[in-house]
Amino acid sequence: MSPGESVLGCAPAAQPQVLRERGQREVFCGLTGIIWMHRKMQDAFFLVVGSRTCAHLLQSAAGVMIFAEPRFATAIIEERDLAGMADCQDELDRIVDKLLARRPEIRTLFLVGSCPSEVIKLDLGKAAQRLDGKFAGSVRILNYSGSGIETTFTEGEDACLTALVPEMPSADAGEATNLLIVGALPDIVEDQFKRLFDELGIGPVHFLPAKRMAELPKVGPNTVFLLAQPFLTETTGALQRRGAKRLDALFPFGAEGTTDWLRAAAESFGIDRMHFNRVVAPGRERAKRAIAHRRERLEGKRITFLPDSQLELPLARFLHTELGMMPVEVGTPYLNRELNGRELALLPTSTRLSEGQDVDLQLDRVRLDRPDLTVCGLGLANPLEAEGLSTKWAIELVFSPIHGFEQAGDLAELFARPLRRRDILRV
Ligand code: SF4
Repeated sequence: MSPGESVLGCAPAAQPQVLRERGQREVFCGLTGIIWMHRKMQDAFFLVVGSRTCAHLLQSAAGVMIFAEPRFATAIIEERDLAGMADCQDELDRIVDKLLARRPEIRTLFLVGSCPSEVIKLDLGKAAQRLDGKFAGSVRILNYSGSGIETTFTEGEDACLTALVPEMPSADAGEATNLLIVGALPDIVEDQFKRLFDELGIGPVHFLPAKRMAELPKVGPNTVFLLAQPFLTETTGALQRRGAKRLDALFPFGAEGTTDWLRAAAESFGIDRMHFNRVVAPGRERAKRAIAHRRERLEGKRITFLPDSQLELPLARFLHTELGMMPVEVGTPYLNRELNGRELALLPTSTRLSEGQDVDLQLDRVRLDRPDLTVCGLGLANPLEAEGLSTKWAIELVFSPIHGFEQAGDLAELFARPLRRRDILRV
């Protein structure tokens, strides 16, 4: 399909139709994931092999990190012709040597590819293999791409976790069933889920990514896993190829999503239903009460999601089923029907689904629809605000703790705040 073209996908009769667009898109590249991944993986370092643009993106996105000794950096590859590529490899080796000598605590080094043509010419997979051999036993050197040509925003995390899956030790066939939670979560949320799984009697439970390389959990046919994030298509495939089974559930947003997610684990571990209800009820009730406080402002309001983080479908489901909002259009960079099947089933049939982006066409639809709230990237928010449309930055939804019962009220508040602000400005 040529750029700028849109087609209405021919989905099977029972599936909602999807408007597919392949035009200009306004989304961060996969390098952005480094901002939250480096906080999670405490002995990892992310070395972006890129240009000054990549360095600027990381610096501005990371903001406050300049005060700490950061665990990411950019090796800037300046313009070179093909004859200069051998020097590039030497230069990369030199930078890695220097970095690992200065930072002996690093246990995993990710070489992260980007999109300048010089980097594309450089075979980072081979470089990682070569350097991994050199530092064997002390540092694992892996690579993935965060390039804006190959990845959008949250796909950087998917690529990073996919690179980690082959590093996970194999679980023996006779080992007890273990639960793996897949997707980076803020520590506070991880601890809350750990406590709930403990109370339910589900275990052992591990998280991917692990905080340290040495804590990477085992995986095998006795592993069942729950996705904490909807954007982990490649990681899901990699885990399934290692024999792990995915538990199908709503994503843990809001009281209902979190209950469904926990229930999938409880059923897989044969937990008694009465016990499940007893353990889950207090958190679920707290979540419902917190959500109810925001319902008045959000109920009946129309919302559009522009494609950004792939969180759009589960969030639209949460806003519709628990807050009574009406999703007008839900756009997502990629639509994985398998991972999102249950989410899709709970969206109203009138909601327009779109996959990919042709930004001008999409903005035309927003102007026609005039939703009460548009969730979009930073670059589109100001122009839409100038046209009198209220917006919410999609990036905030990725950087804020929004999973689980205890965060359900805050999640609803993230959508209520711009509408409150709009009402105050109008007065
Ligand atoms: Fe820009 Fe590509 Fe670097 Fe991302 S990877 S900052 S899109 S040059």
